[in-house]
Amino acid sequence: MSAAKIIDEPIVSVEYFPPKGLSAERSLMTGAHALRRFSPAYQTVTFGAGGSAIEGSFDWSVSLQNLNEVPTATHIALGHFTRDSLVKFAEDLWEQGIKRLVVLRGDAGGQLAGFDSVADAIAALKLLHPFDISVAAYPEVHPLAQSRQADIANLIAKQDAGANRAITQYFFNNEDFYRFRDEAERKGFRRDIVPGVIPITNFQRIVEFSEKCGASIPDRFHPLFEAAGNDRARHSDVARRLIEEQVRDLAQNGVNQLHIYTLNRVDLTADAIRAFNDEFDDSVAEFRPALVG
Ligand code: FAD
Repeated sequence: MSAAKIIDEPIVSVEYFPPKGLSAERSLMTGAHALRRFSPAYQTVTFGAGGSAIEGSFDWSVSLQNLNEVPTATHIALGHFTRDSLVKFAEDLWEQGIKRLVVLRGDAGGQLAGFDSVADAIAALKLLHPFDISVAAYPEVHPLAQSRQADIANLIAKQDAGANRAITQYFFNNEDFYRFRDEAERKGFRRDIVPGVIPITNFQRIVEFSEKCGASIPDRFHPLFEAAGNDRARHSDVARRLIEEQVRDLAQNGVNQLHIYTLNRVDLTADAIRAFNDEFDDSVAEFRPALVG
């Protein structure tokens, strides 16, 4: 526990992926219900690759929102949509009470069929309904971006099209986040930039994925996970320590919003939220209303 408590209101959002198989489904339902006790401002459901991507994201967004009554955002990977199919998807979501979206180019292929850019799609969605729209941002620069400047210009174009906030790609070195946030603000980004953090549930997998998405792994992490070996409990202990350390540092540096890529691991997510909230003044932390109904 830090000496000086922060007088502010912590705002946490959590991200789930559509589970596959009965046991994973049950465990997500139980977990998302349990995390409700932390009053997340909203929860999001990713849009995965594969044939059932559209239905999976749609169905799980609606089910989870009905289950725990936490406002829910559906991720939309634009690569899977034409203009017409996106309108239909968005209309169906709105009708089901899903009024938040996370609008992305999408990992699959990276090419957009129905739109000139993510900003173009945001403008089209905003014309349909007043969706609350989050977009992606990259503290360590998107691997396909022409330059750091181009990456930030692209983020500002998404703001100009109506994006309500940016959620960052995960990162492990908080200095990367602070530098990026300050630079984006200097260049004219006026919305919240919410840091995305991830528990390292499987170090080898995170190493592989980070190479693709451009997130760097601090050297000091390697010996920590090597020492844990195949012992899952020790691996989880290391992951817990690292994410707690990271979110405490964010709070101590004036960050009051957090987006957790839960990987559907409720235990590590709960520990991270507890550590984050712990840095805030108790009287405020107990009162955490949802941002948008
Ligand atoms: P953009 O805003 O178009 O691009 C971001 C930057 O990368 C720009 O600088 C752009 O110029 C450059 N760029 C990206 N693609 C290309 C390209 N093909 N050619 C040239 N330049 C390019 N993916 C999913 O599939 N499903 C999800 O649910 C999902 N959720 C995510 C949630 C968050 C918070 C984040 C940060 C990422 C998520 N992603 C998801 C990953 C995301 O789709 C990829 O990072 C994708 O490559 C870029 O998406 P974007 O919306 O940032 O695209």
